[in-house]
Amino acid sequence: MEIPHHVLNDGREIPAIGFGTYPLTGQECIDAVASAIEVGYRLIDTAVNYGNEEEVGEAVRRSGVPRDELFVTSKLPGRHHAYDDAIRSTKESLQRLGLDHLDLHLIHWPNPSRGLYPEAWRALVDLQREGLVRSLGVSNFTGEHLRRVIDETGVTPAVNQVELHPWFPQQEMRKTHLELGVVTESWSPLGKRQAPFDEPPVAAAARTHGVTPGQVVLRWQVQVGALPIPKSATPARQRENLDVFGFELTEDEVSAITGLGRPDGRLFGGDPDTHEEM
Ligand code: NAP
Repeated sequence: MEIPHHVLNDGREIPAIGFGTYPLTGQECIDAVASAIEVGYRLIDTAVNYGNEEEVGEAVRRSGVPRDELFVTSKLPGRHHAYDDAIRSTKESLQRLGLDHLDLHLIHWPNPSRGLYPEAWRALVDLQREGLVRSLGVSNFTGEHLRRVIDETGVTPAVNQVELHPWFPQQEMRKTHLELGVVTESWSPLGKRQAPFDEPPVAAAARTHGVTPGQVVLRWQVQVGALPIPKSATPARQRENLDVFGFELTEDEVSAITGLGRPDGRLFGGDPDTHEEM
């Protein structure tokens, strides 16, 4: 299956869909990531706080797919934002993964009350200069957080990974990303376990196009310009979620799904201005 790419603001390419690995751990994680790579995923999303970097590394090695064909993302946790901690944390991620570089490293949450995310960003910029990280990004940043790191370093994050699904379509953030040249990556792209599969516009589009509601939601992600990273432990669903480049939603279908958005649509109230994760 041929997966299209986005071109990042640093000139590198990133697959237009990826594989999320939270909350997989242990053998289940190794099996799920190995199967994801086998069915065709090339972008794998992990994080220090998922506690599964070793398993992801193991699956990558087992896959036999050349390293330069894979795109591995990890994330720096809130407790490692101080400059030296960020450098050490990233080197430890590489050790656990058994890799010599990350394709993308993200600041997991800005934790604005601690105010250390600009320092963490400076560390990532230096890690990129050293070649340990190829592309730099952030997660759960607001426009204000993005502008602050850009103003302080002159380096614009290539990616901002944010909560994005039909109940929380992030129109404003997507506009900001377009203005700044940042790729929008979507976490919980299917709306997690509360998946909005029964919503009438999703169910109707699935019937019209002869696909599953999950495929409709992921196709909607692609058409609004976002890069979804669905998680599934099930090989059949992994394959289904990847198979979203062979049909197209109409503009009306896209608008109707975006119209499901609501101000309180976040899954667990993860407002980056107030929600903090260490
Ligand atoms: P998600 O991908 O929206 O949904 C995953 C859930 O949907 C799982 O329970 C999965 O079950 C089920 N599912 C997957 N495909 C399906 C299909 N085709 N039909 C029916 N059900 C399906 O939610 P998520 O795991 O929260 O988010 C994806 C990734 O985003 C995470 O794995 C993680 O890498 C990342 N993330 C990042 C942040 C952040 O702060 N940056 C926060 C949350 C998540 P099965 O496994 O049983 O198939």
